[in-house]
Amino acid sequence: MRSLVYYMHMVKRHTWRLLRRLKRALPTAALLLVASAMCGTGIYAYSQQTTAKIATEQSELNRQMSAIDQKIAAAKERRAEEERQQKAADAKEVAKEILATPAANAATIDASRCNATNKHANPAAIDILVNKKHCLQPLNFAPTQLVTVNGATLQPEAATAYANLTVAAEAAGQAIRATSSYRSYQDQIETYGYWVRQSGTAGADTYSARPGYSEHQTGLAVDVAAGSCALSCFGSTAAYQWLQANAASYGFIQRYYAGYEATTGYQSEEWHYRYVGVATAQDMKTKGIKTLEEYWNIPGGTY
Ligand SMILES: [Zn+2]
Repeated sequence: MRSLVYYMHMVKRHTWRLLRRLKRALPTAALLLVASAMCGTGIYAYSQQTTAKIATEQSELNRQMSAIDQKIAAAKERRAEEERQQKAADAKEVAKEILATPAANAATIDASRCNATNKHANPAAIDILVNKKHCLQPLNFAPTQLVTVNGATLQPEAATAYANLTVAAEAAGQAIRATSSYRSYQDQIETYGYWVRQSGTAGADTYSARPGYSEHQTGLAVDVAAGSCALSCFGSTAAYQWLQANAASYGFIQRYYAGYEATTGYQSEEWHYRYVGVATAQDMKTKGIKTLEEYWNIPGGTY
């Protein structure tokens, strides 16, 4: 019994001592707690500030980098545009030289100077593009092989396609006949010269190509008529309507449509068909694209 009282007494004494000690230590502990809280807040605020500063600097750097990228892209674009304009000016110059002495120039003029982009520039390929800014290279190019079918002289692939086209047209009761097809560089000198004598250079340039600039020189173009209805009359015929619906199935397109003079550089020619292959002709038809310039994104228009 005594030991229990003693034990209780001891517990009481130690508890009091502990409480007194705690009481003495309390201000210090509170102080430490407050100090560490303040310190933590400070560190947190500082780190927040640093993070924000880094983010600001990063976004400023990004802004400067993209401004530099834009300047580089703009400079490249300007340079490409200058080069294109230079090439177009050269093309015009070469066209003038050909006009001055057409017969002499094929051998002396650098044909690459009259081809503004050098795209679709292989004259033997069915994807050749010829217009007033894209002469044939060489200027006096002639296909290695020409075949004459149903009155049209064309490169073999185009000739086969044209033969099938005329057979189908005839079967549909819309017979067509060729009035002009392959024309050599020399032929074009005569053709163009004739039209210059008829209506002057400016007039001739709207409907007749200068030598080295004619699709007829590629062996891929054919002019057609229905009966006695040729040239502008052809556009009013049922045969013309039949061609609008069916030419693409044989790889042919009407090359010069009304409303596209500024793109092609020529007045509309309902009678002039160009062989480009079935895939291209059908794709253009499906997409409703009327000119090769737009389809291949290549400049055209005047010399
Ligand atoms: Zn023609």
